[in-house]
Amino acid sequence: MTITRDDILTSSGKYPERMKHPECTDEVKENALDLSIKINACLHELGEDDIVSSGFRTSLANAKTPGAAEHSQHMHGNAGDLTKHSIGVRLKKDYQEKKERSLLVRHDLYMEDPDYTITDSMDWTHLQRVPPKSGKRIFIP
Ligand SMILES: [Zn+2]
Repeated sequence: MTITRDDILTSSGKYPERMKHPECTDEVKENALDLSIKINACLHELGEDDIVSSGFRTSLANAKTPGAAEHSQHMHGNAGDLTKHSIGVRLKKDYQEKKERSLLVRHDLYMEDPDYTITDSMDWTHLQRVPPKSGKRIFIP
């Protein structure tokens, strides 16, 4: 199934009210659209399918998210979490093998190191359309 802009904005329909929130600006919507296109392109090439478990967050929602970064890209529509951790593991391997020809580089996405997106209770894959401070494709959150 294709991930849409609105899937990013509402975390796959979980929080429809966030699309009407004042922090969901035109810029956030444009970011979410661009992010959805890049994630879809990546998933298509991997032959994978997934949904967004956490996309756009209001500042309040972000503050209530355990472990979320204070200036999280989720607040700008720039980041989305997929439910499958295995996708992140595959993308990391692909990057290590192909570097500049990898899926992350070609689709201009940045990813939290999957070694850090795994806890006792859950795991996920975090992708974002803007570089982290370090500029690294795969970064430590
Ligand atoms: Zn995330």
